[in-house]
Amino acid sequence: MLGQVHSTSQSSSDIVSRTSNAACEPRSAEIEKILSRWWGFDRLRPLQSEAISAALDGRDSLVVMPTGGGKSLCYQIPPLLSESTDVVISPLVALMKDQVDSLDSIGYPAAALYSGIDDAERSRIREKLLAGHLRLLFVAPERLLNSGLLDLLSRVDVRRFAIDEAHCISHWGHDFRPEYRQLSMLRERFPSASFHAFTATATPRVREDIASQLSLHNPEIVVGCFDRPNLVYRVIQRTDRIKQTLQILGRHPKEAAIVYCISRKETERLATHLAAEGILARPYHAGLEAQERHRTQEAFAQDRVDVVVATVAFGMGIDRSNVRLVLHTALPKSLEAYQQETGRAGRDGLAAECVLLYSSADVFSWESLVRKSAEESDLNVDEAEALIKSQLEHLHTMRRYAQTARCRHATLSEYFGQTYPNDSCGACDVCLGETENMADSTIVAQKILSCVARVEERFGVRHVAEVLRGAKTEGVSRHGHDQLSTFGLLNSLDQRTCENLVHQLLDQGFLSRSPGDRPVVMLNGASWTVLRGDRSVVLLEPKVRSTKKSTIDNDDWQGVDRELFEKLRQWRRNIAEIRGKPAWTILDDRALRLIAKDMPTSPAALLRIKGIGEKRLAEFGESLLDLVDCSLRMRNG
Ligand code: ADP
Ligand code: ZN
Repeated sequence: MLGQVHSTSQSSSDIVSRTSNAACEPRSAEIEKILSRWWGFDRLRPLQSEAISAALDGRDSLVVMPTGGGKSLCYQIPPLLSESTDVVISPLVALMKDQVDSLDSIGYPAAALYSGIDDAERSRIREKLLAGHLRLLFVAPERLLNSGLLDLLSRVDVRRFAIDEAHCISHWGHDFRPEYRQLSMLRERFPSASFHAFTATATPRVREDIASQLSLHNPEIVVGCFDRPNLVYRVIQRTDRIKQTLQILGRHPKEAAIVYCISRKETERLATHLAAEGILARPYHAGLEAQERHRTQEAFAQDRVDVVVATVAFGMGIDRSNVRLVLHTALPKSLEAYQQETGRAGRDGLAAECVLLYSSADVFSWESLVRKSAEESDLNVDEAEALIKSQLEHLHTMRRYAQTARCRHATLSEYFGQTYPNDSCGACDVCLGETENMADSTIVAQKILSCVARVEERFGVRHVAEVLRGAKTEGVSRHGHDQLSTFGLLNSLDQRTCENLVHQLLDQGFLSRSPGDRPVVMLNGASWTVLRGDRSVVLLEPKVRSTKKSTIDNDDWQGVDRELFEKLRQWRRNIAEIRGKPAWTILDDRALRLIAKDMPTSPAALLRIKGIGEKRLAEFGESLLDLVDCSLRMRNG
């Protein structure tokens, strides 16, 4: 049974903190002091308060917050108050390193233990740990369980264990990792410590599973709002991957973007095309040399590369907060995955765009992949069946998202069990009126369906489309299909468009597909209702529509001196390069925009900028004030 649930329908942006309990006031005053001194933030977000209170009271918790919601502060602040060393378990090394870098830049004592560090560094961390100098220690799950680390930790005052990406413990989730299952033994080793699970993606079922797998005791459940109001979602029918990618990237010149592909080969091909167009783009996938991957990751983090074209292998370690576009050139395998991958856009709270290029051909590829990998696994027949079933369910929810003519913000929120309060979000293609229906959808559908009937339900999508557009291919001639009455019925359309329309009918259930490796398109009951004229069909115009401007982007730039912003970015890039650190850990885009807007001319004014605390003021105050001063002088003279 799960404990108390706190949820809010408010957005995750800054809202006045709930001061629920008068006895907590001295504590919250202390937290605010820490927050402004170290981070330069004015206050905690409401759910952060809830989560931190539970942690300080030594009560287990399960914190479900979307990416960008501010989970890290929830485990970073408590050990500062209790002067303990807390442990964060995190699945990826890159993620830990970035966090440690970022904490380092504000003077926060943290370290990460992973297999790549050398012995000298390891013993330095060990010493600091034993001397009680560390407030946070990041560890990968497999290291924690397989080494003498547990003995070491039992000699230190560990009050809390934070388990990041906790959905990895559940096989109902989309990213199950067996090594996470063993974390439950920590409970026995450290009976007096409290446990805190964090995740950005958890449906109610996964939530229950996390709580029971980790044996959380009457946990405080904190559930954030899943909507990301600063993201603009769009789904576009895929017609030409390269052309469409270039077009969409054209809306984000010199900005950070992640372009996801399914195959490794595709990432390289696309990256080459983009580079040929003068875009600073690099491919990234698990097949590249570790060193090469590392170089790309670092260049992206330091603002030296704008676009990474990647498989999903890229991402979990990427915290670059100013990603302005996440483009999926193929369908992700679940809505959880989509939420997580698009979650990498706009972590700084500023407007960002998420585009999905959809083709239902991807659904078929995934289906066969799901089956194949289950068959090749060492699961028994029942387990394999269950896995296939669960993965296909995930896949079809994703497909429905891509095809819905409903607000994308609302669809996503509802999937995560939350109602979306507005009728129109003003930040998705549907609400912006960018999606367009084909004027004569039903007639086009009838033409396609009769063509399927004429070829006697014995051919696949490609062949049907060839007949419809009147292509005299070898296959069409061989079967005499150029003699059919349906030959060339849609001769004004090209092959891709025709195929796309057939897929739309398959997706909406107006056509069926035979099982097996070489599926053929078949009619079903619904097809006949359309052919008889009893039912109408809505097909989306399979073209790239022009996109309208959402209101959110304009607001973010209001009053910002773009020239100064660019100068500040250049300044930041230099520092990042000299230090070999990710640019966003130096100072994030939100802070840069605020400086380029408010034009602070004194240290006190600079301190009022969100993101600038005492350490950053001491380090960068002078150069920042110089840049502002220079800009003001140019403006006035
Ligand atoms: P998550 O881990 O949930 O994805 P992060 O912890 O990385 O999110 O936080 C997302 C962004 O929000 C970061 O840029 C962080 O600095 C900022 N942030 C977090 N908490 C606050 C706060 N209380 N006030 C202002 N900014 C915050
Ligand atoms: Zn909408």
